[in-house]
Amino acid sequence: MVEVRAVRKSFGPLDVLKGVDLRVAAGEVTVVIGPSGSGKSTLLRTLNHLEKADSGTVTVDGTLVGYRRSGDKLYELREREILRQRTHIGFVFQDFHLFPHLTVVENLTEAPVAALRRSRKEATATALALLARVGLADKADAYPRQLSGGQQQRVAIARALALEPKLLLFDEPTSALDPELVGEVLDVIKDLGRACEVPPSGRTTGPHGHAPARQGTTMIVVTHEIGFAREVADTVVFMDDGRIVEQGPPSQVLGAPREARTRAFLSKVL
Ligand code: ADP
Ligand code: MG
Repeated sequence: MVEVRAVRKSFGPLDVLKGVDLRVAAGEVTVVIGPSGSGKSTLLRTLNHLEKADSGTVTVDGTLVGYRRSGDKLYELREREILRQRTHIGFVFQDFHLFPHLTVVENLTEAPVAALRRSRKEATATALALLARVGLADKADAYPRQLSGGQQQRVAIARALALEPKLLLFDEPTSALDPELVGEVLDVIKDLGRACEVPPSGRTTGPHGHAPARQGTTMIVVTHEIGFAREVADTVVFMDDGRIVEQGPPSQVLGAPREARTRAFLSKVL
């Protein structure tokens, strides 16, 4: 679903991504951990066209992000094509980013009507079903300011799902929440990871043989919630100083890290 190859990104003299390679299979949950400033947000943002890599390529579901290929040459995409691609990549921010002047249900119907050309009626039916899924069926007509942070973030997740994303990106989705509200948001994300009971491939184990197969939403989650990573991730990626230092199943990266930098980081957050 996602293939990142040799991606580099600098802001002026600051090298933020120093050659990142990452592959994420369809239906997999990848959790990215690492110290502040290590480039986690920048990596997510390059997947969603919010930043453009200086070099390297990013492919999402077989489509080159930000480029099109003609023969062996790459050409940058036009703005309209970028918007079209971005429609299929959901992004959930730390601080929710809801439209404050729209009700909850309107927050969910706006983009499907505008970008997917759904009828208002169809978009509303989908929105109500998604709100039920995140436990907020009774909040459809509320405004964001009338909701708790945890409820607002669940609305933001439902809004991302309303665009039927093939890839969902979360950038520290619980970092702005009071501690007692973190669990309800993580539970919703956990649920997305196991959205479908019967894997089409008939596989019974995940890519590392430790988890039941599932055809849930493909997700990349940046978080400091190590317990969540242990429970939900198929793959944990540890980033430090613009590079992926170590990646693998949670039992290895969190349970028996090979790299000293991973051990040092975990000893600070655990
Ligand atoms: P993380 O999410 O791991 O904390 P970021 O990807 O946000 O790290 O940032 C990595 C580094 O890049 C930081 O030093 C940050 O200050 C810098 N940075 C991020 N975005 C910009 C930008 N738009 N302009 C300049 N520097 C930036
Ligand atoms: Mg960040």
